[in-house]
Amino acid sequence: MVDRLRIGQSISARVHGTRGIYSCRIDLSEREFRFECTCPLYNSRQPCKHVIALGLAWLEAPGTFADLELALARLAQMPKAEVITLLRHAATRLPEIIPHLAPRRPK
Ligand SMILES: [Zn+2]
Repeated sequence: MVDRLRIGQSISARVHGTRGIYSCRIDLSEREFRFECTCPLYNSRQPCKHVIALGLAWLEAPGTFADLELALARLAQMPKAEVITLLRHAATRLPEIIPHLAPRRPK
C-alpha cells in the first residue's frame, strides 16, 4: 500500500493488486460507511479486500497517512522562498503540476 493520504475526513491509498494498482478511498465523515475502489471487484455495497486493507491500515497506523490539511497549515507558515524551493522539488518529480503553478489568467 502506497501513497497513504488523509484529506479532511477522507483517507485514500493505492494498493498493489493482482491485476494492477488500485486506488481506494474511505469517507470517514458519514454515518453511512462510504468507500470506493478502482479494482474489478468493486461494488458499492460490500467493501473489497483493498478497502478493508485501507481501513485496517488507518486503524493500525494512522500516523503513516500524510495529512494534506496539516501540510498546508505548515506551508502557510513558511517563508515564501522556502515554499518556492518546495514547489521546485515537487515540479521536478511531478511535472504535471507545472501548468497549475502559474495558471493563465483570463485577459
Ligand atoms: Zn478493491
